[in-house]
Amino acid sequence: MATDSLNPRSWLYPTPRGLYCEPGGFYVDPAVAVDRAVITHGHGDHARPGHRAALATPETLAIMRARFEGMPDTAQQSLKYSETVRLGEVEVRLAPAGHILGSAQAVLTWRGQRIVVSGDFKRRPDPTCPPFEPVPCDVFITEATFALPVFHHPSDAGEIGKLLRSITTFPERTHLVGVYALGKCQRVIRLLRAAGYDKRIWLHGALVSLCRLYQEHGIDLGDVAPASEAILETFRGAIVLCPPGAIADRWSRRFAEPISAVCSGWMGVRARARQRGAELPLVISDHADWPELSQTLKDVGAPKVWVTHGREEALVFHARSLGIEAEALHLGGRDEEDG
Ligand SMILES: [Zn+2]
Ligand SMILES: [Zn+2]
Repeated sequence: MATDSLNPRSWLYPTPRGLYCEPGGFYVDPAVAVDRAVITHGHGDHARPGHRAALATPETLAIMRARFEGMPDTAQQSLKYSETVRLGEVEVRLAPAGHILGSAQAVLTWRGQRIVVSGDFKRRPDPTCPPFEPVPCDVFITEATFALPVFHHPSDAGEIGKLLRSITTFPERTHLVGVYALGKCQRVIRLLRAAGYDKRIWLHGALVSLCRLYQEHGIDLGDVAPASEAILETFRGAIVLCPPGAIADRWSRRFAEPISAVCSGWMGVRARARQRGAELPLVISDHADWPELSQTLKDVGAPKVWVTHGREEALVFHARSLGIEAEALHLGGRDEEDG
């Protein structure tokens, strides 16, 4: 596709502040506040407050405004999935990443060479965002959160089925379901609705505003309500969603003999499920598992792959075995909380 003489590392490279695109004059998902940032999605380890200017999808900007008190000091430029814009000398497009509402891959083109910064992504269907779009490119930058061959996420419907069966088996008990507030929460609600669960779903206070934001963006969550506003409600047989940390918290004491479930890609790891206190671990992930990562390398067909955040070494090794030139790109400031 591009001239072989152009070294991609000459125009996009890691710095202590984050991945910097020199001819564009911007950072992608920088770890600190910068003059100009392109943001792939709203999770806290990618979207940080305080940038002078930020470019992202309209949904991601809405999420950032909700989290960062309206972001009045940031010049916001929204770019829909189908649009292209020029920043400095670089053409920028945002392609769907299938990770959460508004999530995007940054497709950067300069002098005929194309680099795709995929941010976080997954390949299986998610009713809260459009599917990942494989974009042919010269360099593909991929995450590696679940980049070990042991990670095969089971079907979402099967995991939701476990929760619904537990409710049938224990109709007197409250099911407390630990979910990450942005993305996982709303996806789990949609999965429950798709499985035919049409009762009210109760929300911990920390989940309410992002659920509202999703609803404002056309994601139908059905009957949801804050648990704090419930009067004369025993929560017997009910589903209450909360951040995973709230399960062990004082907050959970008001519920009837609660059964704790946690939804995360990490729930496939027994030690992590124990650590989270999950009696019912549900493997529902917003990140690609090993087969999805491997398939994606084939789908984008990039001769070069740079691997960031997670288990870099295994994916680098695997990519090389597919004949791809691969290396780890060490970027700081990423966390795995949104597994
Ligand atoms: Zn994320
Ligand atoms: Zn991330």
